[in-house]
Amino acid sequence: MNPDTHQDEKESRFVNERMGANIQKDGTYTVIPRMYGGVTTPEDLKKIADVSLKYDVKVVKVTGGQRLDLIGVKKEDLPKVWEELDMPSGYGYAKSLRTVKTCVGSQFCRFGTQDSLGMGALIERKYERLDFPAKFKIAVNGCPRNCAESCTKDIGIVGNDGGWEVFIGGNGGIKPRIADSFCKIKTDEELIEVCSAVMQYYRETGNYLERTSEWVERMGLQQIQMVILNNEDNRKELAARIDFALTQVTDPWKKILNDSSTRTALFEETRV
Ligand code: SF4
Repeated sequence: MNPDTHQDEKESRFVNERMGANIQKDGTYTVIPRMYGGVTTPEDLKKIADVSLKYDVKVVKVTGGQRLDLIGVKKEDLPKVWEELDMPSGYGYAKSLRTVKTCVGSQFCRFGTQDSLGMGALIERKYERLDFPAKFKIAVNGCPRNCAESCTKDIGIVGNDGGWEVFIGGNGGIKPRIADSFCKIKTDEELIEVCSAVMQYYRETGNYLERTSEWVERMGLQQIQMVILNNEDNRKELAARIDFALTQVTDPWKKILNDSSTRTALFEETRV
């Protein structure tokens, strides 16, 4: 809520957030680089393969969020792995935007009515690095066949002949919940504005660790619709606040690599 004035208290963060990686049961870490909309390139795959071989990564795992997880990186190797990958952090460890899962959509699929690949990558680039009360997942589908499973995402976006339908509050975790239909939208610009407003309203009213599935139940779907859909001023102000917050974020891996004192402190610490 105060993106330009708050000061992060690193020592209050869990180990995964301090280290920018997920600790595993044997004390090694996993590294997940960002793959926008679940799309990668031969060049990035080659870097991932080279780094995995060089640093003796135990398993390269395809995740449920359509990216690659390098499992079994030693703590002292983390900065070198980030440096040599030279890819953005995928925030697989954070209360933040995780993945934007996509289907192939109208660029390739004969059923596709909307460009889910393009929209998914655009959304992931726009909102990456943003803090949320809990982890946050999005899916974008090119048609109602819903191959990227919008119904279990915090925001699910489904293309149709006339535009997009937005779903919110889905969850596939411990307490599964099918997302609620939130609204139908005609243009890409409106879609981004509504997504921004939903995310910022959740950021401002959600409790720490409260997933959107619980937030929607607590706030009430109609209340969220009233704030965001029935009041254009509210919606635009929420979208403006998230845009401001986005001007304050930096890549955590690059931040550690560029700050020798943080790097030394982190990689010399013993508490986990
Ligand atoms: S959701 Fe529709 S557009 Fe996307 S891959 Fe499935 S059938 Fe094709």
